[in-house]
Amino acid sequence: MNGLQKSIIYLNGVGPNRQKILKEEFGISTIQDLLNFFPNRYIDRGRFYKINELTNSNSEIQIIGSITKIIKSNTNNKSKLIAKFEDDTGIIELIWFRGHKWIGSNIKIHTPYVIFGKINYFNGIFSMAHPEMELLKDFKIKKRVNFNSVYPSTEKSINSGITQNIIRKMIYEYLNNYDKNFKENLPNNLIEKFNFISKNQAVRNIHFPKNIVCLNNSIERLKFEEFFYLQLQILIKNRERKKKINGYSFSKIGNYFNSFFHEHLSFKLTSAQINVIKEIRKDLGSRYQMNRLLQGDVGSGKTIVAYMSMLISLDNGYQSCLMAPTEILAQQHYKVIKKLSDNIGLTIDILTGSVSKSKRKPLLDDLKLGKIDILIGTHALIEDPVVFKNLGLAIIDEQHRFGVAQRSLLWKKNLLPPNILVMTATPIPRTLAMSLYGDLDISLIDKLPPGRKPIKTFHRTDSKRLSVLKFIKDEISKGNQIYIVYPLIEESKKIDFKDLMDGFESISRYFPLPKYKISILHGKMKNNDKEYEMKRFLEGQTQIMVATTVIEVGVDVPNASVMIIESSERFGLSQLHQLRGRVGRGNKQSYCILMTGNKVSNDSKLRIDTMVKTNNGFEIADVDLKMRGPGNIMGTQQSGLLKLKIADLVKDQDIMINARNSVIDLLDDDENLEKNENQIVKQTLAEIGTYKNIWNYIS
Ligand code: ADP
Ligand code: MG
Repeated sequence: MNGLQKSIIYLNGVGPNRQKILKEEFGISTIQDLLNFFPNRYIDRGRFYKINELTNSNSEIQIIGSITKIIKSNTNNKSKLIAKFEDDTGIIELIWFRGHKWIGSNIKIHTPYVIFGKINYFNGIFSMAHPEMELLKDFKIKKRVNFNSVYPSTEKSINSGITQNIIRKMIYEYLNNYDKNFKENLPNNLIEKFNFISKNQAVRNIHFPKNIVCLNNSIERLKFEEFFYLQLQILIKNRERKKKINGYSFSKIGNYFNSFFHEHLSFKLTSAQINVIKEIRKDLGSRYQMNRLLQGDVGSGKTIVAYMSMLISLDNGYQSCLMAPTEILAQQHYKVIKKLSDNIGLTIDILTGSVSKSKRKPLLDDLKLGKIDILIGTHALIEDPVVFKNLGLAIIDEQHRFGVAQRSLLWKKNLLPPNILVMTATPIPRTLAMSLYGDLDISLIDKLPPGRKPIKTFHRTDSKRLSVLKFIKDEISKGNQIYIVYPLIEESKKIDFKDLMDGFESISRYFPLPKYKISILHGKMKNNDKEYEMKRFLEGQTQIMVATTVIEVGVDVPNASVMIIESSERFGLSQLHQLRGRVGRGNKQSYCILMTGNKVSNDSKLRIDTMVKTNNGFEIADVDLKMRGPGNIMGTQQSGLLKLKIADLVKDQDIMINARNSVIDLLDDDENLEKNENQIVKQTLAEIGTYKNIWNYIS
C-alpha cells in the first residue's frame, strides 16, 4: 500500500468501528488525514517518578513498580477493579471502571511495569485511573524516545478503545512499512533560505520526536508549510480576481460628490476618513472590482465614508445599496442618509422585511428603472425579486453579522459584480485579516472624530445598585439619556425575558411617571412598536431605554451618556464593546457601568477588567482573540474556514508573515508556477484542492 489518499482501513488494527469513530470524532478518513492529525502536546517520558515524590499537583507522569494485589469492588451497583501498585518508596491505587475481564486475566502480579497516566489525590491516597501499562522489560527493549506525542481525544474515542498507543501504532505502521521516504512539498530555495528540515523528517518527528530540537524544527517547518499553502491559495485567487474581473470604472468625481463635500458636509472629515475615501476613490477609478474591508472602531465615522463612496458611484451613473443587519439599523441609516441627501436631490428608499406588499411593488419597479439612487435595507435586499438597473456599489455594514451565503447573493445582483465595501466595527487583528480576508484590501479608520471624551467604564456589583440608580438620576437631571441593557439569549430565553421585565418594572418604580418616561425595546416586539420606541428615545421624549442587545450595533443617539449593562458577565468582549459604543457619540462625558453579581468567573473578570482598562477596539479584539481563538471571533458560520491543523493565527504571526512574503516573491517571479523548481508547489496545490474562502463566489 502506498498513497496518502488511501483509506485508513488498510492499516492494521483499523476495523469498521474504529474507522467510523476516527471519521466522526476527528475527520480522519485517509492516511493523509491521519498523518495530519497532529499531537496537541508531548510528554517527557524520560522522567520516572518515585511514589514518595508525588504531590497533588502532579499531572501525567510515569512510575516503575509492581502490582501486589487486585481487588474487585462494588459500590452503588458500579463495579470497579482496584490494584495496589508499589515501588520501594510507597503505594498507590490503580483503578479501572471498564474492561475488568481483560485486565484481570492479562495483568501480571509482582512483575515490574512502567505505568503512565494522570495522578489523582483523594483522602490521602494517590490513584491513577486507566493507566497505560507496559512491562518494564518490553519498555526497555523498545529503547523509548523521550518525547511521547499526545493526540486529541474525545469521550467517544476513549470509550471505543482508541488509545494514544493505538493512534501512535497506526502512524508508525504507515511511516515505517509503506512510505519510507516522504515526498518533499516545498521548493528547494525556501528550504535553504529558512534552513528547514525535509518533509520526510518533519512528518516523522512531529509524531515520533527524536529529541526536542528535531521536534521544534518539525513544528516550525509544518507551520510554515501550512501558512504557505493557505496564503498561496488566497493570493492566487486575488491575482485572478484582479486580472479577470473588469469592474465598473468610476472615472470621474462629479457634482453629487463635489457639492456635498464643499457645501453640505457639516463637519470636517478626520484625516483617517480622508485617507480611506482616497483609497476607495482609487479602487473605484480602476478597472478592477473593488473588494475592500473598512475597519473602524465604533463611532469612528464609517457612515459618512460609505455615503461619499455612494456619491462617487452616482456621479458615474450607477446605483448603490447599503445593507445592514437589523431593521433598526437600516432605519437609522435610511434617516441619516436621507437627511444628508436633502439638498442634493437624490432618491433614497428603504427595503426591509416589514415593507408592505403594496409598497414593495412600486419600489421594486422604480429600482429596476433606475429611479432609486440609493437603496438601504436589511436581508430583504438580497431576495430574488430585488433587481437593480445598474448596481455599481454595494456596501455592507457590520459585515460580521451576516452569513456567508447572504453576502454572496448580493454580489450576484449584476452581470459584472458590483464594487464591494464591507464595513466592520469589530476589528480583526491584521494577521487574522490576512488569512481570512487575504484577498480583500483593507482600510482603517484609526482615529475618532475630534472632541470625543473617552468613555469612563466601571464595574459595579449588585450590592451597589442603589448608588448606580442615584447616578442615573443625576445624569438625567443634566438632560442626559440612559441605556440599560439586559442579556437575552436563546438558550435561557424565558428566564432572561422575565429578568428584563422585572428590571423594567423596578426601574419604572424608581423613576416614576410623569417625571420620568421609559422606553423598552426587545426582539419580541412588532417592528412598528420598536420603531416607535426608538423614535421616542431618539427625540428625547423618554430618558431611559431598557433594552436587549437589539440595540447592539450602530444605533446612534448622541444625547445618551450612560450605558448600564446588566449581568455583564454573560456578554462576550466584542459585544460589550459594541454596546459601550452606543454612548460617547456626542461631546459629553459618557459612562459605561458593567453590573455583575458578587461572584464572577475568571474569564468574566478578565473581560470586565479589559473593558474597564481600555476603550481601544483593537486591544479588546486582541484579548478576545486570545481568550476565544480565531474561529469563534468570526462567528460560527465562518469558523470552519480557519481550522488550521498546526499553525496558530495568534501565536505564529511571524511565521505567517514569512510565509506570506515568500508566496508574494514566488508569484512575482513565476505567477503561473511554470518554472521547473516550482513544479513541486504546483503539484501540491492541485492535491490540496480549492481553498474554500468566503469570497470564492468569484470564480
Ligand atoms: P460608526 O463608524 O460607528 O458607524 P458613525 O458613522 O455612526 O460611526 O459616526 C458616529 C458619529 O460621529 C455620527 O453622529 C457622525 O455624524 C459623527 N461623525 C462622523 N465623522 C465625523 C467627523 N469627522 N467629525 C465630527 N463628527 C463626525
Ligand atoms: Mg455604523
